[in-house]
Amino acid sequence: MSSTSARSPSPGTTRRSFLAGGAAFAAAPAVATLVGGVLAEPVFADDTLPDYAPVPSSSLGPALNAQGYFVGRVERNLYWVTDGSYQAAFLTTKDGVVLFDAPPTIGKNLQRAIDQIASANGVSNKVTHIVYSHHHADHIGASSLFDRRVVRVGQIENKRLLARDNDPARPVPDLTFKTHHKLVVGGEKIDLAWHGTNHTPDNTYIHLPDHDTLMLVDINLPGWVPFDSFNLNQDVPGSLAAPSQAMAYPWKNYIGGHMGRLGTRDDMVVYQQYLTDLIDGIQKALVTIDPTPFFVKYGNNTWAAVKAYQAAQVNYAAAPVIQKYTGVLAAADVYTASTTFFILESIRLDLGFGSQVHP
Ligand SMILES: [Zn+2]
Repeated sequence: MSSTSARSPSPGTTRRSFLAGGAAFAAAPAVATLVGGVLAEPVFADDTLPDYAPVPSSSLGPALNAQGYFVGRVERNLYWVTDGSYQAAFLTTKDGVVLFDAPPTIGKNLQRAIDQIASANGVSNKVTHIVYSHHHADHIGASSLFDRRVVRVGQIENKRLLARDNDPARPVPDLTFKTHHKLVVGGEKIDLAWHGTNHTPDNTYIHLPDHDTLMLVDINLPGWVPFDSFNLNQDVPGSLAAPSQAMAYPWKNYIGGHMGRLGTRDDMVVYQQYLTDLIDGIQKALVTIDPTPFFVKYGNNTWAAVKAYQAAQVNYAAAPVIQKYTGVLAAADVYTASTTFFILESIRLDLGFGSQVHP
């Protein structure tokens, strides 16, 4: 996809020099992998690419090390690892290490990060459990790097979806649960819960009550707007409800699975307001914009009329939100429009808002 080329520093840059670009670009190959890029020669010259608002410094996290990762303490014996785009976490216990997700972009740096912390603290570096947040390959596709005897834990739909996908990189969970499971490893408590479909049918709330931490992946990406088209969330109403489900738990630290830093409750409040502002704008757009001129212009080409009409609705709803959140959430001007369209379709189709029955 062309967006991967967009990340190359200049035309004619080779893959080798791109990868050698240092920490500033360390996350780019990770994202290129996510969207299926092969880091081929750039297709577009830089001057044809759009410019966007700068990323607020508050959206960025700590610098990566020479191997391309950062590992830090969340609280006590709970740690997080990032490559700037993806996040995993792990808990060191007296009986071994519990790993939460295994993003392939972090890959072998997961064990390096665990080794680093374990040797500094004189504890075991042996991963005994992997908890899957959800079935997506970009978050657990490095699971197979770990021993087959490691106990994988996932929600019951996670097992069904991974069996369907039949990907050797993502072994199905050995231990499943339907709505709640209290996992205790080495005396450390991990509460797993399923509160319905949101980003995926199996997305799991991972609460560590003794670490003041909630891990909930692909819902809020702290400091950033959602990825393209509202994170490609499979269930929009469920995904809109997820932040308040998350806030019902007691926590201080939020692990969102993405980008370079941890989240706080304040981040979740900002994200909820961003969604509320979008929904308000969309509801106004659905009742304000007159479809007549679009259908007059395009005659019997119904799709052309619908496309132009909906583009006008999206622009009406998104423009003030982009303006409000530029400088607050990174990439507000990059992805707010596609997220607006995704939520607009749900408000129209799931909620029936603006639907009229022929008299
Ligand atoms: Zn996902």
